[in-house]
Amino acid sequence: MARVTCRDHRQRVRGFGVDRKHDDIEQVLIPAEAIQQRLRELSAEIDRDYAGRKVLLVGVLKGAFIVMADMARYLTVPLEFDFMAVSSYGSATQTSGVVRILKDLDIDIAGRDVLVVEDIVDSGLTLNYLLRNLRARQPASLEIMTLLSKPDQARVEIPIRYHGFAVPNVFVVGYGLDYAENYRNLPYVGTLREEVYRS
Ligand code: 5GP
Repeated sequence: MARVTCRDHRQRVRGFGVDRKHDDIEQVLIPAEAIQQRLRELSAEIDRDYAGRKVLLVGVLKGAFIVMADMARYLTVPLEFDFMAVSSYGSATQTSGVVRILKDLDIDIAGRDVLVVEDIVDSGLTLNYLLRNLRARQPASLEIMTLLSKPDQARVEIPIRYHGFAVPNVFVVGYGLDYAENYRNLPYVGTLREEVYRS
């Protein structure tokens, strides 16, 4: 078994939650601590709104896995979890508008209080499709929480109940969001250097 030295440990502790900028990142738009603070606020709001009820959190893969995991640990209402995967950008940086369900829910949501957790709402086309699809399954309630949105890009109006941050119309990575499957594990949200797209 590998020996963990004090130095390794210190580096890990310092690395977590601190905005040590990855070399490929141009600018940190939302620092790690700001994200955690906002998630604590939103969780307190959700706890109040759903008091006495059990919430089914539905994460939209892959991007929402980080926000879902952090939120889940701030929330105190009883929770169950399920995930959906839908096709979105692939490795390009523009939405196609074509939505395909790659993985459906395991749980029947009829009569359930469902809270959909998203990483980012851009044009809104993905969520618009998902909402119509989920509404048809007759949940008791259906609300949306998203960490990020790009208000200037909205092509359809999405009723977002819990909202983290608005970002400008730039491609962002980190905190679940990828570029060609990289950078999802960064604890902050930022933009990529120009060279990264060209390489
Ligand atoms: P929409 O259908 O709202 O245009 O796009 C939603 C999906 O597009 C998101 O769930 C996400 O996967 C992807 N997306 C939109 N904007 C960005 C962005 O700035 N960065 C990354 N990494 N993905 C994005």
